[in-house]
Amino acid sequence: MGEIKQLPQNVANQISAGEVVERPASIVKELIENSIDADAEKIEIRIEDGGRKLIRVKDDGHGILAEDIEAAFSRYATSKIKEIDDLYSLYSLGFRGEALASISSVAEVEMLSRHKSEDAGVKIKIKGGDIIDKKPAGSIVGTDVTVKDLFYNTPARYKYLKTTTTEFSHISRIVSTEAAASSDISFKLYHNGRQILSTPGNGKLKDTIYAVFGEDIADNLLPIDIEDRYIKLSGYICRPELTRSNRSHELFFVNNRPIYNNITAKAVENAYKKLIDPGRKPIVFLFIKVNPILVDVNVHPTKRQVKFSRNQIIYDVISKGVRKTLKEADPTTRIKLEQNIKIRDGKNNNLDDSNKSADKKLTDNDNLNNKKETQNENLFKNTFNKINSTQSTKFKKNNSANINDGRENSQKNKREINIEENLAAGVSDNINEEYLIKGNGISESSFKFLGQIFNSYLLIETDEGLKIIDQHNAHERILFEKLTAEFNEKNKASQSLLIPVKIELSPEEREIVRQYKEIINELGIEFSDFGGNTILIQEVPVLLKNKSTRNIIEELIAELSEAGKGLNAAEVEENMIEYLACRTAVKAGKPLNRKESIQLIKDLYKTENPYRCPHSRPVMINISKKEIEKGIGRK
Ligand code: ADP
Ligand code: MG
Repeated sequence: MGEIKQLPQNVANQISAGEVVERPASIVKELIENSIDADAEKIEIRIEDGGRKLIRVKDDGHGILAEDIEAAFSRYATSKIKEIDDLYSLYSLGFRGEALASISSVAEVEMLSRHKSEDAGVKIKIKGGDIIDKKPAGSIVGTDVTVKDLFYNTPARYKYLKTTTTEFSHISRIVSTEAAASSDISFKLYHNGRQILSTPGNGKLKDTIYAVFGEDIADNLLPIDIEDRYIKLSGYICRPELTRSNRSHELFFVNNRPIYNNITAKAVENAYKKLIDPGRKPIVFLFIKVNPILVDVNVHPTKRQVKFSRNQIIYDVISKGVRKTLKEADPTTRIKLEQNIKIRDGKNNNLDDSNKSADKKLTDNDNLNNKKETQNENLFKNTFNKINSTQSTKFKKNNSANINDGRENSQKNKREINIEENLAAGVSDNINEEYLIKGNGISESSFKFLGQIFNSYLLIETDEGLKIIDQHNAHERILFEKLTAEFNEKNKASQSLLIPVKIELSPEEREIVRQYKEIINELGIEFSDFGGNTILIQEVPVLLKNKSTRNIIEELIAELSEAGKGLNAAEVEENMIEYLACRTAVKAGKPLNRKESIQLIKDLYKTENPYRCPHSRPVMINISKKEIEKGIGRK
């Protein structure tokens, strides 16, 4: 007798269960996916003790034929594929035929199911892979699976279960993801009898997201709809001001299957780069439709990972598509005025605070009222001017329309003529003129300049609402793009310094400079050794001409030391230009006159990304008309 023996079926199933049934959440996932494959409209999930005591998934799908119910529990038994080629045209979630076999080999499973073509159901009980009981049973159409005694016969695995809270949080994550994948199905999740989640199942992804992920996320969604030759993207992505610290809210669905894939995650993160703070992760619900032939779903036992055969195309379409959607959607940070509402209703959390703070609030409010009165006067003036200017606009429009056929032209003329007129009348400082915002895929079409506040912020009105622009960040963005263009245009030309600049470095800095020598030279900075750790800067890029070379280069080296060895030439160049832009940009606290302010805003809107400064801090915040109305109590 040889030593190599076939393992009994039970043991083989337990081994395979090790891959499929990692923890209670994996069971929940498999059972839900079976219900989805069975065309269920309602799925109810009941959990006790994080799944340790009970997992129950009940659906109203098509059910299982009485004659098939035993087969459902044998390994590699499936109704979903017949041959391997079927994998390349697969739209069902299951296909391996091993989930039920695996689960029932490490727990006690009871299944009650009635097929839609049959009058009665059948009930089967299996424990450790053995059928304990099987009998006809009354049932409505659908399937109801109960899993108890998980890992009773594999104590080592049982020991690895985490706390109830942890296990349930895994379950709730699975249910949330599956619910988002199937908005046309109503999901209900209970833990120890308490309802945790309920989705409407009305087919609307947004409603499902609202039900599962809450109002904050649902309020900040941007629809995405992109069609390419190979792939189609749909779903929602979140406005950049709402982020997470990890990838937990980057949800991807390939042909409706929730998946994890590094390429898709990277593509999305690339699109959000510079729009969100470094280290933060975006929130997306991205549905990717591809021909099943281009995606391999059979690379992981839990089917959670997929492999694309055209990674680059997938990456490009997602990255560009998400970027385009973000760009078109005015990614200005939006401000909510909720606090004010609370104060008005007397429901603010600070009500119990000491009288002192209540007093302070009163004085603050008084001040606000005083200010408001002057503001109101100005507002009145402005409105008055606006009425005047609209009237003359109308008049001019008719006139210029006669001269120009193109609508755009006539609008432009109208504006210019008005400015001239107003200038002539000597009222240029009071007019509330509209300025066009050109193209760039930006959703606003024009702005009205309202004034500067705190010598630091410019106020404008646009189609999107009242915007508060940080003058420094705005100027930084403008200069950054201008300097980058100049730098590339001049082909990084450099020029010798009349008096070389001596810079003393620490040993670490000297080492960094040595490592980055090639890149530093590429930027147009030439230097030589001056003995010890001192270097002598001899040439700098034309761009740095007349700038304080020492500071800029010291800063550059400091940045390089901080970044370690990981930066490439483009990043180093970007850092240098960012610093230069920051150094030369108008500071906060500097009064700007009307003309300077308007020019700054116009220049800002001509940039690639007017919403974030090169360091990816917000350039402006937005208070929508709706928010103002809500805050004032008009709506
Ligand atoms: P797979 O889903 O990969 O086919 P499973 O072990 O999960 O394998 O299920 C085996 C079979 O049992 C399925 O192919 C399906 O025919 C049937 N089945 C399981 N759960 C359900 C359900 N909730 N409703 C209808 N049929 C089901
Ligand atoms: Mg299955």
